[in-house]
Amino acid sequence: MKKTEAIVLSVKSWGEADRIVTLFSKEYGKTEAVAYGARKPRSALAASVQLFTQAEMTLAEGKRIDTLKQCHIMRSFRTLREDLSRMAYGSFLTEVCEVLTMDGERDEELYERLLLLLEMIETRNPRLAALAGALQLMKHGGFGPITERCSACGCAVEGDAFFDRQLGGIVCETCRQTDSIPMRESMRAFIAWLEKLGDGPIEPPRVTGRDMVDTEKLLIAYLTDIIDRPLRSLKFIAQLGDT
Ligand SMILES: [Zn+2]
Repeated sequence: MKKTEAIVLSVKSWGEADRIVTLFSKEYGKTEAVAYGARKPRSALAASVQLFTQAEMTLAEGKRIDTLKQCHIMRSFRTLREDLSRMAYGSFLTEVCEVLTMDGERDEELYERLLLLLEMIETRNPRLAALAGALQLMKHGGFGPITERCSACGCAVEGDAFFDRQLGGIVCETCRQTDSIPMRESMRAFIAWLEKLGDGPIEPPRVTGRDMVDTEKLLIAYLTDIIDRPLRSLKFIAQLGDT
């Protein structure tokens, strides 16, 4: 038996009355487990095997997949599931975490950060918190984007610059390619702020709505390049009709 704290990243129906959950656990990193009978209303697991739930879990090791035996809720994040917009942005965050991490890689720092990010999506502007979360998960996983200096020549970039999707970072005027995306200085300031969101009180940068929308587009495009497949949760977000 393995005992660990974990956060539910995704839940799939399986078989007659079972569920398969993807967890991010404190002790074992990302892992999957089957929760037998979890779709039966009277199952002890039914209430706890829900998206975003943080719980103390007992897993029985299996050859191909572990079995979830017991689950004691520590924090249910119920408000995330009850609000459509928070639900959509929360799913985006957990999906990004799921696709950017490897099975079985213990990472307590990421576990704690994930909790903090879910809390931010629960209590703050969910769209902003989710964008900050996706960026922080990308940075944590070593995927960049590089925003501190030109990703081609390494020079310090001042003022407006460009973004190169192949290089995964900003490029200077000299290194820009024809398909580099213009990136205003204010967008870089916004990214720098998003990277630190949740770390403590920091002065928000002076950015316009257009800066936010353009930065979001750019980061999502870059994220999609990295993972090389569409994200389910982006469809869900699009259905919200936020622009
Ligand atoms: Zn350069």
